[in-house]
Amino acid sequence: MAIQDIYPTALRLLGRPVLVVGGGPVAQRRAKGLLDAGAKVTVVAPVASETLRGLADAGLLTWEPREYRTSDLDGVWFVQTATGTSAVDTQVAADAEAQRIWCVNASDHEASAAWTPAVAVVDDVKIAINAGGDPRRAMALRNAVATALETGDLPLRRHRKPGAGGSVALVGGGPGDSGLITVRGRRLLGQADVVVADRLGPRELLKELAPDVRVIEVGKTPGHHPVPQLEINRILVDEALQGNRVVRLKGGDPYVLGRGGEEAEFCRQNGVEVEVVSGVTSAISVPAAAGIPVTHRGLAKGFSVVTGHEELSEVPARPDHTVVLLMGVAQLRESAAALAGSGLPLGTPVGIVENGYLPEQRVTIGTLGTIADQAEAVGVANPAVIVIGDVVRVSPFAPQHFKTADYSTITPNRPRVRSN
Ligand code: SAH
Repeated sequence: MAIQDIYPTALRLLGRPVLVVGGGPVAQRRAKGLLDAGAKVTVVAPVASETLRGLADAGLLTWEPREYRTSDLDGVWFVQTATGTSAVDTQVAADAEAQRIWCVNASDHEASAAWTPAVAVVDDVKIAINAGGDPRRAMALRNAVATALETGDLPLRRHRKPGAGGSVALVGGGPGDSGLITVRGRRLLGQADVVVADRLGPRELLKELAPDVRVIEVGKTPGHHPVPQLEINRILVDEALQGNRVVRLKGGDPYVLGRGGEEAEFCRQNGVEVEVVSGVTSAISVPAAAGIPVTHRGLAKGFSVVTGHEELSEVPARPDHTVVLLMGVAQLRESAAALAGSGLPLGTPVGIVENGYLPEQRVTIGTLGTIADQAEAVGVANPAVIVIGDVVRVSPFAPQHFKTADYSTITPNRPRVRSN
């Protein structure tokens, strides 16, 4: 049979009686699929699998423990026959044909009046594939399509707005490389009607959005807030209440010094459904981009992430406790002085990574005593992550005399942003 000769359609079987003849693994699979679609399933088979019997015991389907008879077809809309005995399957199919009931015959693909496709379901999208009578080929295609849907590689976006309100997703986009967003974040981005974007984060992904997706820029730079936080909150809620799927695409992780908590709370207070998708925080990943692990056996057992000198009095001042400063460039001198004041040796290594993962990435390494002057001399600017502690020694960018023989083997991650 040629593929042109099939007519794909979607049966709505909710509450309709259907028949499955057979009690083995194929019959079980088909019965489950029919149950998922809400059909009223009767299984006819002298012997049924444990799962089928369990479903019958739970009252989810009816099992007739006996041989098939023609009257089983009375009143059914659709039949699956998979008895494993082709004479029986042929009989069921012939009886169904006579009564003009669509029948899938598992033992004779060519003769079968209807075929069961391989199916993928992602969100509210169901894809059915028939692949030239080759079920494994159909399954391989189905798996590939499902993966592409899940990762947001295929356009899952709705074009008909739902009647009800929209939603907000706070998506952590990672530090800037478009490969460091989560699969879930990328998929939600692909479904967004409106994207509220920061200056930091995977900006390249904005170029891949469909042309009618609205991008609202609310990017902040330290000390300069083009769109105040309260207004960002309002934009999220207003857009969602208009029925839009809103993605708030944030740099790093929404909950790490990113005011994601406030945004989520404001949405909930205003009756807007909100999902938070964690991201790769710059606090950990940007040091890694310079080959610096925030903890390392023998060098540091823990780390603290803070913004500047005010919080530093609370932080352990020891070279084996890594301190990560975000938004810390402007106050670097005060922060270094505060840590030295708490007793951290002036020789403690400090690394500054600007524009982590971006083509302009730059690493400056010094000590607690020298770093402020070095940063000033080379004009260190935001965005930058500052790392303080012995872990900086393992960076391949560290000067030779910082290195300890044991720890100098780590290679940095190369910036991976595509340039186009
Ligand atoms: N929620 C974010 C942090 C927001 S605060 C996260 O989890 O990463 C903004 C600060 O993050 C910047 O001032 C800088 O310190 C840091 N930052 C974010 N992306 C960066 C990058 N690509 N390179 C260097 N620093 C970065």
